[in-house]
Amino acid sequence: MVDRNLSSKLYAAAKEVIPGGVNSPVRAFKSVDGDPFFVQRARGCRIWDVDGNEMIDYVGTWGPAILGHAPSAVIDAVHHASKEGLSFGIPNRHEVEIARTIRDYVPSVEKVRMVNSGTEATMTAIRLARGFTGRDKIIKFEGCYHGHVDSLLVAAGSGALTLGKPDSAGVPDDFAKLTITLPFNRPEAVEEVFEKEGDQIAAIILEPFPANAGLIFPKEGYLQFLRDITEKYGTVLIFDEVMTGFRLAKGGVQEKVGITPDLTAMGKVIGGGLPVGAFGGRADIMDHLAPEGPVYQAGTLSGNPLAMTAGITQLKEMERLNGWERLDEIGQVFEDGVRDTLKELGRDLSFNRVGSMFCLFFTEEKIENVDDVKKSDFNAFRKFFWAALDRGVYFAPSQYEAGFISLAHGAEDIARTTEVAREALREALA
Ligand SMILES: *Cc1c(COP(=O)(O)O)cnc(C)c1O
Repeated sequence: MVDRNLSSKLYAAAKEVIPGGVNSPVRAFKSVDGDPFFVQRARGCRIWDVDGNEMIDYVGTWGPAILGHAPSAVIDAVHHASKEGLSFGIPNRHEVEIARTIRDYVPSVEKVRMVNSGTEATMTAIRLARGFTGRDKIIKFEGCYHGHVDSLLVAAGSGALTLGKPDSAGVPDDFAKLTITLPFNRPEAVEEVFEKEGDQIAAIILEPFPANAGLIFPKEGYLQFLRDITEKYGTVLIFDEVMTGFRLAKGGVQEKVGITPDLTAMGKVIGGGLPVGAFGGRADIMDHLAPEGPVYQAGTLSGNPLAMTAGITQLKEMERLNGWERLDEIGQVFEDGVRDTLKELGRDLSFNRVGSMFCLFFTEEKIENVDDVKKSDFNAFRKFFWAALDRGVYFAPSQYEAGFISLAHGAEDIARTTEVAREALREALA
């Protein structure tokens, strides 16, 4: 039995002063029926909890830690920048540098604005699409998570799914009414809505590879279909690449599949571990933002010099290390290990992977949308999670979350993980 005594004490203390003891719901481990551990420190692909337990980490702070934890290049750069001041609220040169970098990397981005979280990025992208088109309605897809924006907390993924509360209290019906929610990967559902009210749809927002309901891939031609139909009706196509951007390729899914959205929401990797989001796209749309245009958006800490420095440095390191290509290679080795193990156990569980992102589903169902994910054996997942954690491998504490591999995951770490996964699967599927 692994000792998590100090974590338990901290959790009890946290619950007295923080709702549910956490600052973001999935961290509470509700869907695996247990208490979270508290982290002491993290380095490379490893984290240590306050009780001294060491784990190989596949959560990577939910995506940002693409180089691994605490990369010295980023820490040194942030340390250096901090000596010039922590925040200015006045333009600084780091903002120009990161904007140029994003424009160079992301095919659809002509102009970009920096914010402080992925939620802010999607929230503003929606407002901007509405301001630009003069229309109110938006389309989102079941299981796609876009942060905790009121109008997007309808049939959302991630924590909203994990907790079995697709709709949040506190969101007025009148807001939700303007959000049309459709099943992913079903072009006919989208067609039907556009035939009826296409001239009222301001935007379609989606995760091009949905990764907050496990990991789901679009069917052949689906993203192109969405591009075509939005173009036809003058609707803004928004890719939420908060998770996939700068991770699956330098320019995210849009680079990988060669489809150009009008606007893109970004976050996670772009902050290098500090709180950063961004949204960008066509200049004629972006110029509708204040102070040039009528759509208001602002932020006291937006473009923060330390956060910009962390993001720029992380991306430069990725480039220097040929990171995206290497992650594809590490991901392939990881996948081979999982597939061999499943074969050995005689179980045909669905396993999806692209580059450094993966999800093992406790179902043999082919995964096309969130309804398929819901067929998973959640009890087996829970057993698997704890069996792996007790052996020192930390996977995300929910069937609805993807896993992340970083550049710090070496061959030995992957081999150890495969071994642990085999034992944990045996235990969970017994
Ligand atoms: C994490 C995430 C968000 C929200 O970002 P926060 O920084 O947590 O507000 C939005 N969209 C997607 C696809 C995400 O994965």
